[in-house]
Amino acid sequence: MTTIRRLPEALAQKIAAGEVIERPASVVKELVENALDAGAAELRIELLDGGKSLVRVQDDGRGMGREDALLCFERHATSKIGDEEDLARIATLGFRGEALASIAAVARVVLKTSDDAAHPGTAVEQEAGERRSVSDISFPRGTSVEVRDLFFNLPARRKFLRSGSSELTVIAKQMTVVALGHPGVRFHVLHGKREILNAPAVAGLRERVFQLFGKSVLDRLVEVSFEEAGYRLGGLASRPPRGKADRAHQFFFVNGRPVRDRLFQAALNQAFRGLLERDSHPEAFLFLTLPFEDVDVNVHPAKSEVRFKESQKVFHAVVRGLEASLRGGPRIKDIILERGFPEKRIGTFKVEDGRQDSLFGARDTGPSGVAEPPFPRVLGQFLMTYLIATADTGVYIIDQHNAHERILFDRFKEEKSRGRLPRKSALFPILVDLSPAQALVLEESREALDESGFRVEEMGGRTVVLREYPDLFGPDGAREAFLAVLEEMGGDKTGDIRDRILATLACKSAVKAGEPLLREKMEYLVAELFRLENRALCPHGRPIMILIERGQVEKGLKRQPN
Ligand code: ADP
Ligand code: MG
Repeated sequence: MTTIRRLPEALAQKIAAGEVIERPASVVKELVENALDAGAAELRIELLDGGKSLVRVQDDGRGMGREDALLCFERHATSKIGDEEDLARIATLGFRGEALASIAAVARVVLKTSDDAAHPGTAVEQEAGERRSVSDISFPRGTSVEVRDLFFNLPARRKFLRSGSSELTVIAKQMTVVALGHPGVRFHVLHGKREILNAPAVAGLRERVFQLFGKSVLDRLVEVSFEEAGYRLGGLASRPPRGKADRAHQFFFVNGRPVRDRLFQAALNQAFRGLLERDSHPEAFLFLTLPFEDVDVNVHPAKSEVRFKESQKVFHAVVRGLEASLRGGPRIKDIILERGFPEKRIGTFKVEDGRQDSLFGARDTGPSGVAEPPFPRVLGQFLMTYLIATADTGVYIIDQHNAHERILFDRFKEEKSRGRLPRKSALFPILVDLSPAQALVLEESREALDESGFRVEEMGGRTVVLREYPDLFGPDGAREAFLAVLEEMGGDKTGDIRDRILATLACKSAVKAGEPLLREKMEYLVAELFRLENRALCPHGRPIMILIERGQVEKGLKRQPN
């Protein structure tokens, strides 16, 4: 009896396609990479419904002749590598020869291309992996690939796509990364008639950062330039002590390819340790060039991961490169107290889950029959980050920031249920330069922002003026909170958008880790916290406190409970 069957070709194709193409942004990524590999100087990207109904990428690259135009839809057909040796030293963005085949397996595709304007060009139509037509056309040198109705033949996949505007935000972020990696290329991205990004070719990275993020971002960066044993690190990074409130501006390119790897994050943290203002993160637009042999890009079908032959060497090159470039800047290490965060919570401590502390309810009495005080008594602060408080139950270690966040979040929610959040008008206009993705998010969420206290006016381009902001911040704090809210909403997180805005406001206005607190403030925090019913987790889902139970203390010290 045999139970194993060979899958029909069409089904096998669909399965393979799913690994490369996950959402409209993957289509954009593959088509844009092909255009760049073809040496294009100008790319025009047109989208409808967040790319779900249309992605069209047109380039002025070298184009294809008739035979190639037919071959390019075959799986494992590529002009970029020929043998195993090539695979070990990949200089192009593509090399697996499966993007076009994958896209064509799950969408309706029209390819138009010409490698020489003197000869007729070629149009090829593919649908669900089948060829529909081939014809002569007149076409300028270059290529246009039009992809309609992504996943029309995979309804389960199509159902999982997010709304058009969410998919569009993903694409806008991705195109921002691509544009950073190729300052010499013009990118024009349109959603229907709306211009999402228009970035003409510029001389270099500085100009591109200016184009994409504005002057204020560029002003806080320094040039990074370093070379050692065949490893070259170039780009821009934060000029200490100024960082950014979040990690949104951390971009790494390895041999021209945008890469996500924790190694870079770790190297950044190491190089900037003690150099930046409290609660700020380094910004980095870093380009690492190393011998092709030393990096394996063939790790994942989407090619966003790489494997280094010697990751220690890469790590040290990045750290040394950054340190060399940052040296000479003010060192504020000695002024700022090092914050020692525990690497992980110690296993035997219990994270309070809010359900088991009935000792604090009104009817509860302690072992002696005397009513417990209403909440734990504050002893002081530990590492200027944790409040230590005791009750008969045990010793509480409370994260001051997470606790305050929870208190503020609940209060904001309450205030909002009674109307809008209190706001104030800016005395002086607060100018904010937005990235393309932030500008999109703003447009989508104007109403929710307005309810939360932010009133914004457009200035033309991607510059906006903050006219009103929640009455929790000063002007600088308001700008930071506004950007943090946009970042939060542009992220991939789910959950009620209005709650997420409130959580971000709570986070930005809460006391920080590492902040010294007066006794009154500590007592206020603990009292407010223990008044709440829901005090186990902060609005982002992180635990607020751990409890070392009295029994644990007694057992550890070998004392009889009394
Ligand atoms: P890969 O990029 O991994 O080679 P693709 O399926 O993306 O695989 O593309 C297959 C081949 O089609 C490429 O190797 C290239 O020769 C050709 N091709 C695809 N897009 C373009 C384009 N925009 N301009 C010129 N040639 C292209
Ligand atoms: Mg490709």
